[in-house]
Amino acid sequence: MRTFISFTEALDCVLAHASLTGTEFVPLSAVVLRTLAKPVIARDDLPPFASSAMDGFAVRTDDFSLDVHRDVRVIDHIAAGDGRSLVVEPGTCMEIMTGAPFPYGADAVIPIEWVADRQGDNVRFDRIPAPQKHVRPAAEDVQKGAKVFQGGERITPAIAGMLASLGMDPVEVRRQPKVRVISTGDEIVPASSGIGPGQIRNSNGPSLRAQVVEAGGECKVFDHVPDDPDAIRTVLSDAGDSDILVFSGGVSVGEHDYVKQVLDEMGAETLFWKVKQRPGKPLAFGRLGSTLFLGLPGNPVSSAMCFEIYGRALIEAMLGRSSTRTPVLKAKLGRSLRKVEGLHFFTRGIATTDATGQLTVVDTGPQGSNLYGSVVMANCIIHLPQHLAEVLAGSLVDIQMLPWIGLTPKPETPTA
Ligand code: AMP
Ligand code: MG
Repeated sequence: MRTFISFTEALDCVLAHASLTGTEFVPLSAVVLRTLAKPVIARDDLPPFASSAMDGFAVRTDDFSLDVHRDVRVIDHIAAGDGRSLVVEPGTCMEIMTGAPFPYGADAVIPIEWVADRQGDNVRFDRIPAPQKHVRPAAEDVQKGAKVFQGGERITPAIAGMLASLGMDPVEVRRQPKVRVISTGDEIVPASSGIGPGQIRNSNGPSLRAQVVEAGGECKVFDHVPDDPDAIRTVLSDAGDSDILVFSGGVSVGEHDYVKQVLDEMGAETLFWKVKQRPGKPLAFGRLGSTLFLGLPGNPVSSAMCFEIYGRALIEAMLGRSSTRTPVLKAKLGRSLRKVEGLHFFTRGIATTDATGQLTVVDTGPQGSNLYGSVVMANCIIHLPQHLAEVLAGSLVDIQMLPWIGLTPKPETPTA
């Protein structure tokens, strides 16, 4: 077992043990948060046929080369969904609605607003557009045979719309990693309970479950166990059904921290324990049979940050995500931050753009690993490198957006 390794060594170790999940077909109506398993090749042009971009008249612009104001005869009406194969002969035009198939012979649409006069079947226009105006060509968006997606994309609402246009239903997606969240601690009671002396409500369990789901995992099983080796053993007896076990608490060096001890007894291999980072120094990672486990320290900030850094990366790697949704961006630090030299810091931050458009970031204020308000306030994690004791205002720092928030300016940005 490796111990007291750097943040990058720890993350590399986690990613090295991620194996791709299998694939399954799901209805298009259920693809939200799922990941495309395979490249998507367009089987049709998009749009599949040339159509009108306006309500108006499909005309032959040649007809007006000598006299813009001549009359032409309206010989038909084409509505959206009209499947007839129609031809506009010289001297005629057809009324056409937005989205209706564009007839042969015509080469432009004159918007209805440009009609100068209409008498029965005869129409005259104020002006004549250039050829191809207001016509949407076939295949303008996507060409049949084109690779529209590489595979590995998280399915956004826009991707779901594109898949629908291309006739992809059901959709082949990656199976979601099955994640079991196990919170530990004698002092912990459910959120629905009153609290007695010395008790606190279980905040890590619900927030971790939400983080798992947001990252693309499935979290159907959720347990809480007291600090009792037997209880931990019982919960672990059917651990093999899960791809990942996420423990909250019980991995420190306290007298009642039994999680590691029980895992060891059960033959688990701990790949690392303790990372040069804050928060979350006692983080543990390993495997029990083919199930991976992450032992997160119980402090709510440590639990949330460590899951966001390591748990999310693990789930995304198992899903074969091509691009993580939490890219590391460079931002200008708004005020200096002191830190412990030798530890990589995950400081909760509020990123925003300043008046010049520069991405800037400040910390959320007090950073104690018990102060969960700092996670609630943050929209990003500021990465402060291990080797520094202070990072000065004005320097560029790496930030990792918290994907569930994004760049929303916060009215209550704290001041120094
Ligand atoms: P531990 O890692 O078990 O030593 O826990 C560290 C701190 O986190 C203690 O103050 C615990 O009370 C707190 N804690 C542990 N688990 C939870 C939880 N599920 N929800 C909220 N706080 C917790
Ligand atoms: Mg505990």
